[in-house]
Amino acid sequence: MERIKKSTTKSKELPPETPVAIVLLSGGLDSVLSLKIVLSQGIKVKGLNFITPFLKEQKTVREQAEEFGIPLVTIKLGEDYLNLVKRPKYGYGKHLNPCIDCRILMFKKAKALLRKKFSFIVTGEVLAQRPSSQYKNALLMIEEEAGLVGRVLRPLSAKVLPETIPEKQGLINREELLAISGRSRKEQLKLAKNFGIKNYLSPAGGCLLTEKEFSLKLKDLFEHREKIEISDLYLLKVGRHFRLSPDTKLIVGRNERENNLLFSLAGNNDFLLEVNGIAGPAGILESRSKDLIPLAAGIVARYSDAKDFPSVPVNYWNSYNKAGVTVKPLNSVEKLKSLRIGSQ
Ligand code: SF4
Repeated sequence: MERIKKSTTKSKELPPETPVAIVLLSGGLDSVLSLKIVLSQGIKVKGLNFITPFLKEQKTVREQAEEFGIPLVTIKLGEDYLNLVKRPKYGYGKHLNPCIDCRILMFKKAKALLRKKFSFIVTGEVLAQRPSSQYKNALLMIEEEAGLVGRVLRPLSAKVLPETIPEKQGLINREELLAISGRSRKEQLKLAKNFGIKNYLSPAGGCLLTEKEFSLKLKDLFEHREKIEISDLYLLKVGRHFRLSPDTKLIVGRNERENNLLFSLAGNNDFLLEVNGIAGPAGILESRSKDLIPLAAGIVARYSDAKDFPSVPVNYWNSYNKAGVTVKPLNSVEKLKSLRIGSQ
């Protein structure tokens, strides 16, 4: 289910003939530079930000919108987005990132906001910066699939791409746009310095789907679970994950914050585990049976202050049962490695 939220920052009705640029903001440098370039041509701007369960943080975009004094619309992507990630029509990038399908979906949602004749979309995309999704053909195909041919302006690469409708209409001066292409970020960093832009996410700061470890955990979830809830996705961001059997997974917290999160995210049927009376992590065992509780307790004990004890009491409970088990901590590195999903 998708939710749309509008911020109240400087939002006022404009005359119908006023051109409005919808700038897709991700919190990264390229999109905020594109925003700045369009604003400096005197165009009215609305920021648009998509929230997916795979984002690391959302506050930078809000701060950028405030800094530039523009209204910000946020669209929360839910189940339709999850289905797309599970079965992307155009496949994945390096990891589980379905960038082409993701961009098409975002462009289609952005298109719904283009009510005015002279409106257009602005993105921070840079030609050939990322494999496959930002090659010229892919950029143009994404536009076409979204029904936005000629209405997507990419200020950073505009001069190496076909002229867009707002440029032809004289709303945007092509001469003041840029011709950046490729993976180097030198030009963008120089521009950021010139514009005095300091608040942006690092290139690795945005989407978890581009990360190997996270993608391995998500792949494991897709392989072992028929029905996935959005809360399952949030759990992927927390703790060390172990696949104990096809229908049993253990998650072990790495610090106090994660332990508290695990307590709050556990489902009614999940077992929570904790070493009795000795400092250690919390664990969630996603399992209907108790068969693998000794193995799970051994792993939880291994990450506690009692990891070198010969035997350790571990409590486990869910909404229906509460009990304890005494185990030897599982200290075999090979065994742990064979059970671990990813290797964070
Ligand atoms: S990096 Fe993530 S958010 Fe960005 S286009 Fe790819 S899948 Fe979508």
